[in-house]
Amino acid sequence: MKTFTRRDFGWTLGKGITATALLGSTSLACGQSAKNENKKLGVALVGLGSYSTYQLAPSLQDTEHCYLAGIVTGTKEKEQVWQDKYGIPKENTYNYDNFDTIANNEDIDIVYVVLPNSMHADFSIRAAKAGKHVICEKPMAISVAECDAIIDACNKAGVKLSVGYRMQSDPYTKEVKKYVAEKTFGNVHFVSSDAGYISNGNPDQWRLNKELSGGGALMNMGVYSIQTSIYGCGSNPSSVSAQEFSTRPDYFKDTDETITAQFEFPNGAVAHMMTSHNANGNRLKSHCSNGWFELDPAHSYGPISGRTSNGNVISFPHQRQQALQMDDFAKHILMGTPNVAPGEMGKRDMIIVEAIYRSIAEGGKKQTLDLGNMGIVG
Ligand code: NAD
Repeated sequence: MKTFTRRDFGWTLGKGITATALLGSTSLACGQSAKNENKKLGVALVGLGSYSTYQLAPSLQDTEHCYLAGIVTGTKEKEQVWQDKYGIPKENTYNYDNFDTIANNEDIDIVYVVLPNSMHADFSIRAAKAGKHVICEKPMAISVAECDAIIDACNKAGVKLSVGYRMQSDPYTKEVKKYVAEKTFGNVHFVSSDAGYISNGNPDQWRLNKELSGGGALMNMGVYSIQTSIYGCGSNPSSVSAQEFSTRPDYFKDTDETITAQFEFPNGAVAHMMTSHNANGNRLKSHCSNGWFELDPAHSYGPISGRTSNGNVISFPHQRQQALQMDDFAKHILMGTPNVAPGEMGKRDMIIVEAIYRSIAEGGKKQTLDLGNMGIVG
């Protein structure tokens, strides 16, 4: 962890010299107080694919409380490119085999796992064992058992854990949560939520390979429609029934193409979600006793756009969600602010994912969900 002013940081990067080299190292303090407000936590990205390259690394340049301190990659050619582009020292560059030695590197405070879904648990657990705080991309893992193993490893190591749910830090999401909590449009009766895109890429990509992805659209975009259903209603569902549809079995050989599901909520509200790798969808609409509110697009990188039944447009200045998300987690570590996307939230969503697959396997049979004691809503 380093103490920076924003000016220091811009200057060091501008010269291509690492902040680490110039400012020296301090050990991570446990105290969560105002004196930590100027601290920046070093983040190591594990997996330098498209999300790290085009979203996370650029967003790290916009954060107040984090900086890109290290990389972990299985592709040798990427090492020099990233070192040059972001001023990352050689000593902060790891591969999948020597990754565990990151334990000895005081520059790295947070390990951010951005690998195919089936690799999340292994690398998150290894990061925790190395004594590093963990951000694990969504979906948190490919089973509830793996989510439990990650949570246990982080608890045992005394490190913090967060899931890469960028929408939890987005101002539009916070606004609709406020409408629900304050009953701005009355009680929510029905929520409709879609999250999908049309996949036409390489049929051998990991997202279409169940062993690496854990599942298709539901594991990928489905977690967004699960989350929007929940924060669009304001509570965890008490049951789910689900259906699966396939129109391109030649392409979606191994993973689900389109899934619909219906949730019941303890207050009588109902939600319908759709997720697909063969249909575009990016929407949340909550119908309430005295009106409605809508986000469309609801969960892309932004700008998000929203409207309400009273004729208002929901509008916030565009900021990178990933920068807000990483700063939220850093503030949680440094200042003890709430963890807006804890591991338990990732586990809750995986309980729902497993119930959806179970419902489909049982011909759409309603599955009871017992999420009331998880302490996680939203
Ligand atoms: P990607 O395919 O672009 O990158 C995957 C990376 O993993 C590559 O660097 C690849 O070299 C590496 N890798 C290591 N072992 C691999 C293997 N056996 N097969 C394939 N790749 C392997 O994927 P991505 O889009 O960067 O997604 C990575 C993770 O980030 C996924 O869990 C995904 O769900 C998540 N993601 C989240 C968001 C979000 O908005 N929160 C957006 C995109 C991706």
